[in-house]
Amino acid sequence: MTAVPALEVRGLRKRYDTGVEALKGIDLSVAEGDFFALLGPNGAGKSTLIGIISSLVNKSEGEARVFGIDIARQRNLAMRQIGLVPQELNFNQFEKPLEICINYAGFYGIARDEAMRRAKQELERAHLWDKAQATSRTLSGGMKRRLMIARAMMTQPRLLILDEPTAGVDIEIRRGMWRALREINAAGTTIILTTHYLEEAETLCRNLAIIDHGQIIEHGPMRSLLAKLDVESFLLDVEASENVLLPTVPGLTLTRQDANTLDLSMPHSMDFNRVFAALDGAGIRVRSMRPKSNRLEELFVRLIGPKGAA
Ligand code: ADP
Repeated sequence: MTAVPALEVRGLRKRYDTGVEALKGIDLSVAEGDFFALLGPNGAGKSTLIGIISSLVNKSEGEARVFGIDIARQRNLAMRQIGLVPQELNFNQFEKPLEICINYAGFYGIARDEAMRRAKQELERAHLWDKAQATSRTLSGGMKRRLMIARAMMTQPRLLILDEPTAGVDIEIRRGMWRALREINAAGTTIILTTHYLEEAETLCRNLAIIDHGQIIEHGPMRSLLAKLDVESFLLDVEASENVLLPTVPGLTLTRQDANTLDLSMPHSMDFNRVFAALDGAGIRVRSMRPKSNRLEELFVRLIGPKGAA
């Protein structure tokens, strides 16, 4: 027996009243327990897709199932499986985190004792328990975003969906959120994260789909997508005198980042020994090398052009 996917989308279309075709027949499948990235540039259709899955936007055609539950036929049951973290902070900033979580649970009919137990669990997981009684307005930007996650988890959703949760947020705050999300995923909740931060998807997610102009242009494991790159990029830690000229090797791109770091891109098929021999011949000794971390960015550029990586 095959397991029921956390999300199954078939032939999903959305045409807004304005005539904009935001989704042009999307097929998508996300396995239970997955940490899945939905990547795409602005205007690609990510929010529309998330909106349809979470019943905030009406679809025009096609179907979507959450754990096998049809979102159109059993809307309420489907919605109960989902926790949604919207992009904007939308809690009452004058309330305390504990109140925010408990009131949210109350809205979903969860008894107060149980809500209290869950609030403690979720605020602890979000590293916010010591701020449970603080006025939310006084929390840092990162804490406010983790509070949004803790609140969404109050209904114990099997699928947590985050719509660009880290847009415009600095790297420290993003790391704090990543930690919280990893814990939630490790405890069994399926996560779908929409983002246009490629590094974020590469760091967190096992599978991904790339959406552009309302169509899925890639869908599969992160690893096999990255393997599609026929160029590998590395950072080389080198010893070289300052005025040394970088060697020219056909097919190889070599640029200087700083006095001791070179940026190297080369085809998979190229032999490292050739590269090292060329560097050696130019008086450059390689102390160490590491793969560049932004390979997904390269993939993105290859698939949809430089505009997508902006
Ligand atoms: P993303 O989340 O990837 O940035 P969206 O789903 O927000 O993309 O938008 C996809 C397309 O649909 C865009 O062309 C956008 O302008 C359009 N769109 C989004 N929401 C609406 C709406 N409520 N009414 C009309 N057009 C919309």
